[in-house]
Amino acid sequence: MRAWVVDRPGPMASRPLALVEREVPEPGPGEVLVRVEACGVCRTDLHLAEGDLRPRRPRTTPGHQAVGRVEGTGERVGVAWLRSTCGRCRYCVRGMENLCPRSTYTGWDADGGFAEYLVAPAGYVYPLPDEPPAERLAPLLCAGIIGYRALARCDLPPGGRLGIYGFGASAHLTAQAAIAQGATVHAVSRSAESRRLALELGAASAGDRPPEPLDSAILFAPVGTLVPPALEALDRGGTLAVAGIHLTDIPVLDYDRHLFQERTLRSVTANTRADGRAYLELALAHPPRVSTTAYPFEEADRALADLAADRVSGAAVLVLS
Ligand SMILES: [Zn+2]
Ligand SMILES: [Zn+2]
Repeated sequence: MRAWVVDRPGPMASRPLALVEREVPEPGPGEVLVRVEACGVCRTDLHLAEGDLRPRRPRTTPGHQAVGRVEGTGERVGVAWLRSTCGRCRYCVRGMENLCPRSTYTGWDADGGFAEYLVAPAGYVYPLPDEPPAERLAPLLCAGIIGYRALARCDLPPGGRLGIYGFGASAHLTAQAAIAQGATVHAVSRSAESRRLALELGAASAGDRPPEPLDSAILFAPVGTLVPPALEALDRGGTLAVAGIHLTDIPVLDYDRHLFQERTLRSVTANTRADGRAYLELALAHPPRVSTTAYPFEEADRALADLAADRVSGAAVLVLS
């Protein structure tokens, strides 16, 4: 089979990915072999390619939003970021398996979906319907699920004012979930195309800064310098959730300007399977508009370079023929 691997992590201009030929992987006990139809491209894949996240094993295939069919049964499934947890630690037994110290991740600890096949533990894949095209389902698996958890973590009150900083794949799905709940959404993005998409999806504003104080905000852009202004834009008692797995350094905070009046800054760390199931149930019952940019499988490196340069509107998806 053909598979992309992170050959030498570095800037996209240095071509860190290589397309290689490999044996089709053998499923181990409790695992399924999935033939990939499409795989979403996430900023985390870019962090892995560029070395912002240290590789956990050499020449690993990225990709953790794979839609495909289980070999043998033909069942359609989604393979997402959370690959396994221990099930026994204090976090797992408390229902916080996203914090399990022994958790493993698709495309980081094991080969992911930028390949014609991948294997995954059966207990961690999500059943998916036959109907929507794989390209539309793939972005739900990380962009959708992580955004859903970030929305829960930012404590948005009913009918509240939500700021969304950075308007890419995850943000455009999260904005729709928030608006469906009755929120007023303000998008903050540099990209004219992303601003247009935000307004089309029902955002109340899209610009350089929110036009009113916010109850809650989610930072999707991996940019630490946005933390102080995002905190400053919160109303009293507001919460800012940082959605990404990687963030550049946060500048020094001024207690009075940025935190006092009980403003809260918190992170979002992966997701639980319960988050995944809850989000997919919602998204399949009330399908969001999924804005995708499709790339042929052979052009995974171009997809990541476009993501690095903020040239992707909505979600980038690799499509296998
Ligand atoms: Zn992701
Ligand atoms: Zn655990």
